[in-house]
Amino acid sequence: MRVLIVEDEVRLAEALGEIMKGQRYSVDIVYDGEDGLDYAMSDIYDVIVMDVMLPKMNGFDIVRKMREEKNQTPVIMLTAKDDTADKIKGLDCGADDYLTKPFIPGELLARIRAISRRQGEVVLDELKFEDLTLSLSNYSVSCNGNSINLGPKEFDILKLLMSNPNIIVPKEDLLIKVWGIESDAEDNNVEVYISFLRKKIAHISSKVAISTVRKIGYRLEVPNC
Ligand code: CA
Repeated sequence: MRVLIVEDEVRLAEALGEIMKGQRYSVDIVYDGEDGLDYAMSDIYDVIVMDVMLPKMNGFDIVRKMREEKNQTPVIMLTAKDDTADKIKGLDCGADDYLTKPFIPGELLARIRAISRRQGEVVLDELKFEDLTLSLSNYSVSCNGNSINLGPKEFDILKLLMSNPNIIVPKEDLLIKVWGIESDAEDNNVEVYISFLRKKIAHISSKVAISTVRKIGYRLEVPNC
């Protein structure tokens, strides 16, 4: 799960970020409305947590702009006070839910889970490709009864590859979607994790291979014998 936090109260933003990382979510944080809109429009997030009162552009305007541009990423608005007019305005602008400050982190996490469950009619519990099955609930991959656990980055990479089977997934996409826009991770970070994944896939005796497409990226396929 990839979450964007748009909040100008730095301590609150960072505390929320730590709580979400504790849930193994990938988190990006921005501190003003203009960055909020830019990041939101990248369309790489599963949920956005957004304050209303922000420098440069307020949360209502960001959500309205996102929806005008056909960006449907779910947004949970953080309203400063228990102000019914603000809640109505937020929902009218296209926000999916709201939470009144101060709130307990557990409630925000519960709402994030609820919203991500609502996304799409069918909640997938696993992805399949050839003899591989990736469990989305317990971070493991299996083949013919053999199963092995994956680390968070390995899981994110394999999920992306299995969501795009037989097509090339560019290295830059993996960097942005797994490590985040602001990360200083480089190509060789991707290569290291791909090599971990190859070993794990071989360990459970799968026919599937992660092929390297030189200078472009990777493709999940079953090589011809
Ligand atoms: Ca604020």
